[in-house]
Amino acid sequence: MGARYFCEYCGVFLRHGSSSVRKQHMAGNRHRMKVADYYRKVLDEQLQGRVDRVVEEFERDVAQGRASRTHGVTVVQQLRLESGDLSTGN
Ligand SMILES: [Zn+2]
Repeated sequence: MGARYFCEYCGVFLRHGSSSVRKQHMAGNRHRMKVADYYRKVLDEQLQGRVDRVVEEFERDVAQGRASRTHGVTVVQQLRLESGDLSTGN
């Protein structure tokens, strides 16, 4: 033992990296908030990527006369709704 443990969510070293110290740290409110922030950010980025891709495909379809703008808005809203359901599941 005695090895330091780095918490990548909080960006801090725990001086005594024993499992009980780690458990205590991970049960702390500050750490939990950092973890929640981290996953919220990751989910946001993933959602943004999905939305960007859908919008891009949609713009191409509109340019080629295969879709109307009204329909595209519905698809993006649908995506946001789906992802909203995911992130409230914790
Ligand atoms: Zn932490």
